[in-house]
Amino acid sequence: MTDQILETATSILNEGPICDHCMGRMFAKLSTGLSNDQRGAAVKLALAMEADLTRSETSDNSMLQLLSHSSLHARKSLKLDNTLDKCWVCNGLFEQLDIWAERVVDALNGYEFDTFLIGTRPSGLLIENEEILWAASGTGWSEPLKTEMNREVGRRVEEKLGKKADLKVPHITALLDINKGDVELEVRSLYIYGRYRKMVRGIPQTRWPCRECRGRGCEHCNFTGAMYPESVDELIKPEVMKATQSIDTVFHGAGREDIDALMLGTGRPFIVEAEEPLRRRIDLTRLQHRINRHAAGKVEVEGLKFVSHRAVEVIKQTKADKVYRLRVTFKGQVSEEKLISAIDVLARNPINQRTPTRVSHRRADLERVRTIHNIELEQLSPNGQTATIVVGCQGGLYVKELVSGDDGRTVPSLTQSLGIESKVTELDVIKVEGTFI
Ligand SMILES: [Zn+2]
Ligand SMILES: [Zn+2]
Repeated sequence: MTDQILETATSILNEGPICDHCMGRMFAKLSTGLSNDQRGAAVKLALAMEADLTRSETSDNSMLQLLSHSSLHARKSLKLDNTLDKCWVCNGLFEQLDIWAERVVDALNGYEFDTFLIGTRPSGLLIENEEILWAASGTGWSEPLKTEMNREVGRRVEEKLGKKADLKVPHITALLDINKGDVELEVRSLYIYGRYRKMVRGIPQTRWPCRECRGRGCEHCNFTGAMYPESVDELIKPEVMKATQSIDTVFHGAGREDIDALMLGTGRPFIVEAEEPLRRRIDLTRLQHRINRHAAGKVEVEGLKFVSHRAVEVIKQTKADKVYRLRVTFKGQVSEEKLISAIDVLARNPINQRTPTRVSHRRADLERVRTIHNIELEQLSPNGQTATIVVGCQGGLYVKELVSGDDGRTVPSLTQSLGIESKVTELDVIKVEGTFI
């Protein structure tokens, strides 16, 4: 052992009695394959032998005293009062590794998980002691107390439960609160992807707080706090909460449709996030059946699968192409020939759209250019006053304004190319393109 190590160890010891863990931690980067307490015991042994060598040469044996009252085998202090001395750095924390591991195991009881992570929230006193220790020894070879605590408790929990610690995306993080002496859990959400169809009008995608009372409850909303009694989110939520035994769910949709629009075809992608679930290994086929029974006739889900939290960003950011079926009403009579040629103008030109008036209060006023992939007249009523049109278009196109023209903010529009005021009176999403996940 070099003089440099012995000198550092001596100056650490001069601060007071120290346990093997805390001593060894100061040299954590010097020898791999050993735990800090093994390393600390070795350093102390070397110091003791060194002191033994020099004892005959000098009458000062204070070093030997410090060593003996701090070593694991001689816990009794050589001080006159003869009390048990705790390590001045960790105050005995590293004698309690098994107790902390047991607390973690207790806290995790009842949760289904594969991976976990230990975190430590040290007390102010521990942080201060560690700073003093670093000042005495330098930090060149050391590792933080938290790191050792996390690793040692983690190793014990791994052994007790047969589960793996995972630094990246653990299902559960157990936070050791040293001050309070308890364990706090952070339970990662469970993410379930699927596609939904909405077969009735008048249901928003997510709960829509009452405009009058902003959700507090008033006469207007019949004291529900909501504009509408149900939403796609709320129709899916209860069965997901039941299956996962979670405290709540969050709904993430790949875009949204109008409250009055149906969502048909293969449905719209969504992710339901179950918060703090007790259960993770749930049967998704069964969950799908239960949701579809609960929401029967209104909402239907399919293709449920587990995804990672990163999938939420993917479905939120993807601007998928859509196919809409529109019921259009004209202020006047339209011939089939005229309508077909007006539709043709829309199909052959880029659509310039300024942010529609109806959403301009919550979105920036921008001009965007969108493309129509195909547009087709499905049916024209015999009196020439209403038509059904199917439009396939780029994601982000405001399809109501494509028809109305929004007072010239969308160019070209059906109103413009037809020369007759046109309006969407019913709208269904019949396809959201793409696989997403
Ligand atoms: Zn210690
Ligand atoms: Zn209200």
